[in-house]
This record gives sequence, C-alpha cells and structure tokens, in this order.
Amino acid sequence: MAEVEEENTHVWCHRLRIAVFISAMRHFRDELGEKKFRVEYHELTTAPSQDKGKSHSEVLKKSVHHLRPERLVVVQPGDFRVQENLQKTADELGIELEIRQDEHFFVTPDDFATYAKDRSLLLENFYRSMRKKHGILVDQSGEPEGGQWNYDAENRKTFGKSGPPKISKRPKFEPDATTRKVFELIESRFQDHPGRLEKFDHPVTRVEGQKLLRHFASHLLEGFGPYEDAMWTEEPFLFHSRLSLPLNLKLVSPKECIDAAIKAYEDGKAEIAAVEGFVRQILGWREFVRGIYWLKMPEYQKLNELNQTRKLPSFYWGGETEMNCVKHVMSTILDYGYTHHIQRLMVMGNLAQTMGTDPYQFHEWHMAMYVDAVDWVSLPNALGMSQYGDGGIVGTKPYCSTGNYINKMSNYCKGCRYNYKEKVGEDACPFTTLYWDFLDRHRETFQENQRMTFAMKNLEKYRKDSDLMEGIRKKARELFEMWGI
Ligand code: SF4
Repeated sequence: MAEVEEENTHVWCHRLRIAVFISAMRHFRDELGEKKFRVEYHELTTAPSQDKGKSHSEVLKKSVHHLRPERLVVVQPGDFRVQENLQKTADELGIELEIRQDEHFFVTPDDFATYAKDRSLLLENFYRSMRKKHGILVDQSGEPEGGQWNYDAENRKTFGKSGPPKISKRPKFEPDATTRKVFELIESRFQDHPGRLEKFDHPVTRVEGQKLLRHFASHLLEGFGPYEDAMWTEEPFLFHSRLSLPLNLKLVSPKECIDAAIKAYEDGKAEIAAVEGFVRQILGWREFVRGIYWLKMPEYQKLNELNQTRKLPSFYWGGETEMNCVKHVMSTILDYGYTHHIQRLMVMGNLAQTMGTDPYQFHEWHMAMYVDAVDWVSLPNALGMSQYGDGGIVGTKPYCSTGNYINKMSNYCKGCRYNYKEKVGEDACPFTTLYWDFLDRHRETFQENQRMTFAMKNLEKYRKDSDLMEGIRKKARELFEMWGI
C-alpha cells in the first residue's frame, strides 16, 4: 500500500479528501498488522525528500527491487489511469500483473459488457434485471415487492414553510490520533489545497462505517425516500445516508447496505417507497455507472457533446458569491467535502452546465472537492449525468433548470439577493438567465430531444420577443465577464 503525492495532486484535492483516504489506509494497515499480516507500506511524511517516489509506479518499482515478488496481485483499481500505470509498470519490470475482481460490486465489468451487448442501455431495465437476478425486493414469482418496480414519483416531496421534520442526529466521528497525524501531514505538505479540516466528521474504519449504516437504516431511511430531492439551509444533509464515502472506501459493502435497508422494511421501520429508492441507488445506479465507465473508457473522458469550453469561476473553489444557494452548498463542501446529490446536480452542476463549462473540468473539480469521488463514479456522474458531456449515455436529457426549481425544492431563494423569477435586470437570478441562454445556444441539439419539448416550446416563445431574448444573452455575457470566464 502506498501513499503518494501524485494521488493528492493530480486534481487539486480538498484537504478532507486527502485526510479520509490516507487515514482510512493507515487504519487498515494497522488492523492488518494486528492480525499479523506483513504489510509493505509507503507513508508520506512531512519531509518530501523521504518519499521513495512521487507516484505508485515509482514506489512500486523500488518495492519490487527489494521484495523480489514472483508476481503482482491487485484488486481492480477504481481509476482507469491507475490501472494503466500499474500495467505499464509491471510490463517494464517484466512481472506478471494479476487484476482481481472488486468484491464491493455486484457486477463485474465483463458481465456488464455482456449485458450491454446488442441492447440500448437504460438504467430502469438494468435495475430490474439486477433485482430479479439477485432476488432483491421481489416475491417468489419474480414480481416487485409492493407491486411496483419504481416509487420515484413518491420520492419528490418538498418541505412546507416550517421546514423539515425532526432529524435524528448522526453518530459523530471525531479525528483520532491516527487522523490527527494525517492532519499534521496536510498542514505541512498540502496547506494550499482547498477546504477545511476543522469539522472533520467522516468514518475511516469498518466499525465506524457500520455504525453509520446502522443509524441510517434505523433512523433516517424512512425520511430519505420522500425527501430525496429536497434542500434546506439549516440541514445540509437532511435524511441522506452519507454512505457513499464508506462504500467507496470499501469500509462497508453494497450488499450489507441493501440488507440493512430491507431489514428496516421487514421490521416496519421504513416504507417500501423509501427502501426501494435507496436500493435503486445502490443496486441500480451505482452498478450501472461503474459498468458504463469500464465499458466506455478511455474514450468516455474525452466526450464533450455540446463543445463547452469555459473554465469554472473562482467561487467553485472558495465559495465567495451572492447566490445564496451556491454560497450554502459551497460552505458545506468546504467544511465536509460532501453534499447530497441534488445539491451537486441542481446547484453546482446545473450552474456549471448552463454557463458552458468544459465537462471534463467539472469532473476534475468534483474529483477534487468531494471525499467520496473516485474516477469510476465521478466521470459518468459529473461529465455524463450532470454536464451531458456524453450526449445522453447515462441521462437522456440535460440536467438543468431555472431558479424556479431550486425555489420549489429548498428555502435558499428566500434569503437571496437575486429573484429566481427574473431572467433579466439587476435582480435576475443567474440560474434563470443562464438556463434560457444555454437552451438558446444549443437550440439545434435540443430541438429533437422529446424530453425537452416543453422547455424548447417556451424558448421559442421568448425568441419571438427579440428584446427579451437579446436581454437574456446580454445578461449572460455580463455574468461571464463578472466571473472572469
Ligand atoms: Fe439561487 Fe437564484 Fe434562488 Fe438565489 S434566487 S438562491 S441564485 S436559485
């Protein structure tokens, strides 16, 4: 196992992201040591001159030199780049590299490729096939538990003026001595990286991951379903599990997450709609995007369907903006390296897309700023789902909206200096202006998309009013200039 500088700097990693990865590795190393495994471990210290190398390859070459192994055996990495580098290094060393399947997934990349052969890839079909294959939430005749395969329509509730109901407090994960030592390393070597360490509250051991899962299944799952898409200033995480980090660090397995959710259903602690929504995320979406990643890489990372080329403005790193929604979401990102999926998609992703950001750059930002981001999951979600860079492989339409949707799903707009209803003028909401400017810029691409019919009809209405349309375009240009993009 090796901590190497390259993995913390190939994207400009949030300090918390560095902290959780290194801390989890050190805890695992120590657990293996207690079980009397011999571990060859390369640790980063506060003195860069002591590094045996800057990358996995460099450290591996040195280790191979003194360990003289017959062959190298690895679990499949979560990043195409890392796998390629390992293979290249093994070839240079003339040693066999055996890549073993990652047991933290239900489907292997080969099985997904077989499934994908000669069929159009639709999440819903894949998800149903997984439910049947693994006997999850299906009865003995193969019919869905509760009578429906998908309860999505019941899972989009918003809060009234009084806000969310009482939310059970999550267990806290204070930094222990191992994690604090990692903080010292970060303060010394990665001090100019974004984000803050003060509110560290993430599981870094299996015991902690399991604790978070138990709490979610018993206390939050019931609320997760109906309020999956809601946002609220005082409750940044609401009923979301925050299990993506322990899952991607392999502290808990997807199977035990699903088992815990089904047990909560059987014990009467959660309704079928909530449990099905959670199972769909793990058994459906998580497996689907990983399958797409290995099926389409390395070409996938270069896709840019809309030819968008702008860079991200500086507030994506520091959070200084008057947009209340972005300010709140950025503050959560800087404090926790995490926000839930609607804050990622409908706030940060939505704005990046409508301002015309290069989709790969958005993926790199997401990789840098989120503790749970690994290439296999970030690329299809950020470049594909969020930015429509893949032209509809993972999502059939661009994931964007005006400020109206943000107002419907949150209380952000109430305290904002902008007006979500306005497209032009001093108080125009940037989300609303840029949504119409974006559709106008890509009119030809979206005209044939049936899921965009309603939006494109409205755009045509606005285009008939040339003053209004010109006003939107001018306002968009002013925003780009103000943000320096
Ligand atoms: Fe965000 Fe616009 Fe609402 Fe302000 S008005 S919070 S910028 S959506």
